[in-house]
Amino acid sequence: MTHAMPSNKKEEKAKEAVRSFQSAKGMHDVLPSDEPYWEKIESVARGLATAYGFSRIEPPILEFAELYNKTSGEDSDVVQKEMYTLKTKGGDVLALRPEYTPGISRAYMENGLSRLGQPQKLYAMGPIFRHERPQLGRARQFTQIDFETLGGVNDPIYDAEVIALFVDLLLGLKIKGFTLRLNSIGCRICRPIYKKQLVSYYKSHEKELCEDCRRRLVTNPLRLLDCKEASCEALKDKAPNFLDKLCVTCSAHFKSVLEYLDEVRIPYELDHRLVRGLDYYSRTVFEIYAAGEEEQIGALAAGGRYDYLMETIGGHLTPAVGAAGGVERLIAVLRAKEIAFPPKNGRRIFLAHAGDLAKKKAFAVLKDLRDRGFIVAESLSKGSLGAQLKVADKEGIGIALILGQKEMYENTIIVRDLTSGAQEAVALEKLAEEIKKRQKEQ
Ligand SMILES: [Zn+2]
Ligand SMILES: [Zn+2]
Repeated sequence: MTHAMPSNKKEEKAKEAVRSFQSAKGMHDVLPSDEPYWEKIESVARGLATAYGFSRIEPPILEFAELYNKTSGEDSDVVQKEMYTLKTKGGDVLALRPEYTPGISRAYMENGLSRLGQPQKLYAMGPIFRHERPQLGRARQFTQIDFETLGGVNDPIYDAEVIALFVDLLLGLKIKGFTLRLNSIGCRICRPIYKKQLVSYYKSHEKELCEDCRRRLVTNPLRLLDCKEASCEALKDKAPNFLDKLCVTCSAHFKSVLEYLDEVRIPYELDHRLVRGLDYYSRTVFEIYAAGEEEQIGALAAGGRYDYLMETIGGHLTPAVGAAGGVERLIAVLRAKEIAFPPKNGRRIFLAHAGDLAKKKAFAVLKDLRDRGFIVAESLSKGSLGAQLKVADKEGIGIALILGQKEMYENTIIVRDLTSGAQEAVALEKLAEEIKKRQKEQ
């Protein structure tokens, strides 16, 4: 007699998902109904890239896992808990990119972009992978828009510029209320001194810390300020404030960033607990939230300066600053705030056939119109004219072209205004001209 093990409910659920070919946990489809949002976000981002002088770069989705270990940090959540790694048949250990910055930095170095005019302003848009607990605004595959300014001199104006760019992205999407949180986490000179003070403060509260933070006390004390555990949260307010301990150069840099932001009237809040969870940051770090959606959806954009990153992967000291925004989170905010971007219907026309004989000819007319650059919708597989026109109506299209047997032999087509119902026969060779005329009047 065999004893069946009581099956774990969670495991069973996962197995069921595989059996019925559902998408993997935390991986979502982008559906046609989401498309107007994507279209709008991508076009605003591309417009800003052009206006701010950023050029597109796309590093591969797979990189050596070691790239992230070295830059993001072995103790970061991204590397320790969230990275998808895989061993190739050749034995390489690769990772699905958990963020853009290390890959873009590697590409900058490897492709000699450091020898071109500096700074290089680069942007990217694509999928990012993190093995996290899925929730609103947090999926395992999501999409980032990333802007990075690399090389040249260490000028705070670029910290302010990348912040201004992301503020413009939100404004371009009609997200008006936002909170910008800012902090500085110093440099190689002032950070070790601050860390010592931080450690000595937390040492006196060691018993109150969560297990992770007791480990961080040794491995990465700055992250103590980042912990969301209630017991650790309570200790943050009395922790020493880095902004009081910055060295003269870091302090001047931070002051300049604030002055540039004042100059373009971007409001900010100083947040001494903001450290960002990645090792490569230095000096300025920031996060931008939509007003009222801080808790629900999380940061819409986040980033900072990372002057030492290039050195950790074998390059020269390279001043750099950048940030990334999450497309799905932006969409979640747009939906929450009921900001919609209806598809532009104005230029669409509809082609219908009346009777099977005209269907072949309709196909040729369709192709010809599309070749000429018209946006033509159809429902040619439907037999009855009424059923076809119903589709045009449902899609809110104003002009329908109807090709029947009579028109076919006369080389004409009926142009019908679907709002007024008025129609006339137009010679096929004059059709393009007629459509253009009507679209102008609309
Ligand atoms: Zn410093
Ligand atoms: Zn903690």
